[in-house]
Amino acid sequence: MNCNKREKKVAPYTETVCWGYEAENGPDVWGQLNPEYRLCSAGIHQSPIDIVNPTPAKLSPITFNYQSTSLNICNTGNTIEVAYPAGSWIEVDGTKYHLLQFHFHAPSEHTVAGNLYDMEMHLV
Ligand SMILES: [Zn+2]
Repeated sequence: MNCNKREKKVAPYTETVCWGYEAENGPDVWGQLNPEYRLCSAGIHQSPIDIVNPTPAKLSPITFNYQSTSLNICNTGNTIEVAYPAGSWIEVDGTKYHLLQFHFHAPSEHTVAGNLYDMEMHLV
């Protein structure tokens, strides 16, 4: 299995198993794959989330300052990840959020009313 830095171990943590999206290693069991990831099952604000009955909100504007760059694309075994050089950020309510990398999940990790989508992109 190719899971690089994201591999996790299954209790009693003697056998290495990669997290993924199948029944045996998917979001429902991430919190059981390694003690370091127990918040995946114990946390109450953890990804993935199911978006149900969203409420409209008036949000602050986002200032985008993303710079063009050549892409360094890496297949980690779980996702396609693109590291991003320093200097790109967004700003919301006076706080800057620097873009470190972006990656894709297929199918999506998050759901809307229980429905998965073909792909999802995360900006980290
Ligand atoms: Zn992600």
